[in-house]
Amino acid sequence: MFKVLSSKLRFFTMSAEQKFEVLFILGGPGAGKGTLCRYITEKYGYVHLSAGDLLREERMKPNSKYGELIEKFIKNGKIVPVAITCSLLDNNMQASDSPHKRFLIDGFPRNQDNVDGWNETMSEKCIVKGVLFCECSKEMCTQRCLKRGAAGSGRSDDNEEVLVKRHETYITNTLPLIEYFEKQGLIYKVNSMQSPEKVFEDTKEILSKIGW
Ligand code: UDP
Ligand code: MG
Repeated sequence: MFKVLSSKLRFFTMSAEQKFEVLFILGGPGAGKGTLCRYITEKYGYVHLSAGDLLREERMKPNSKYGELIEKFIKNGKIVPVAITCSLLDNNMQASDSPHKRFLIDGFPRNQDNVDGWNETMSEKCIVKGVLFCECSKEMCTQRCLKRGAAGSGRSDDNEEVLVKRHETYITNTLPLIEYFEKQGLIYKVNSMQSPEKVFEDTKEILSKIGW
């Protein structure tokens, strides 16, 4: 009886220890978020969820309801409606068998609507430990994406035309979130104009500050 009741209670009120721990990774397109997350995952075993990769994966599914819509947003450098992104993140977090339950959420949230959607549907299940902000100049970001495109990233948005739109979206929608999270004491800045190894070195110190 007690067991049944306590498991029900647990369902309704997840304590801080039971929640998934999340670190958001933000920065311009090409700032090096994905690369840094791969370094972190390799050393610490935390789960890397790139919102952009999950959307691209969903778009490729032959019978996805949202495939066309996702492609339209990505090709215009626009932000996909939050319900779609959050449900992909949620499904992947629930399905993870990682012992850590610590997630690197890369490239999300990108606008206030993303934040509101996250707060509504995910804040009950997750605790945001911090926001890692990869600082990189627009010029270097652009160079990296063009190089990635030329090397055959296969991404429909790694070209000059879409990059202009991605940058606009980043400046108008994502940058204001840095201030929003700063007020909550959640921002950790890392200079991502350095080599991947050096960015990772700096990031390790940040991870230890948040208790990871
Ligand atoms: N995207 C989105 N919501 C997200 C993450 C990505 O709508 O939460 C879309 C958006 O159109 C973006 C594209 O996916 O321009 C590529 O995102 P990704 O994070 O892969 O690109 P990056 O910023 O790493 O270059
Ligand atoms: Mg990426």
